[in-house]
Amino acid sequence: MRDQDNPEPRALSVRQPWAQLIVQGAKDVENRSRSTRHRGRLYIHAATRLACVPSARELLVKAHFPEGISDLPRGAVIGTVDLIGCYPHGPDCVICRVSPWASEHYTWHWVLAHPVQFDAPAPMLGQMGVWSSAALAELSGSRV
Ligand SMILES: [Zn+2]
Repeated sequence: MRDQDNPEPRALSVRQPWAQLIVQGAKDVENRSRSTRHRGRLYIHAATRLACVPSARELLVKAHFPEGISDLPRGAVIGTVDLIGCYPHGPDCVICRVSPWASEHYTWHWVLAHPVQFDAPAPMLGQMGVWSSAALAELSGSRV
């Protein structure tokens, strides 16, 4: 069922609470050590492992998600964003100037837009980097 208008879906695994904040639109930059050529719809997969963030609860309350970090869905695709650009961090970095989520400790800023949170998480295995899988293709097909 794939054609040029419906290319193979791509996903990115992100640890909680970052994944939740991304699909809610609270976090608009994902910092990575690598770039990607992918642009457009990117499924956000909440990784099994939690990020180690002391301020996570505060961030979640700000994002109107007051439940604890351990209640967040994990091991599931929880929504989509559009990946609109990858920008290298450097001197006079524009992304660092415009987003509080840009971190100077990473080489690349992935800029995200148009977040959509799914009503129900879709459990599946994640992978490193930008990935695709049969389960993701099935999910994508069911949501066209
Ligand atoms: Zn930067």
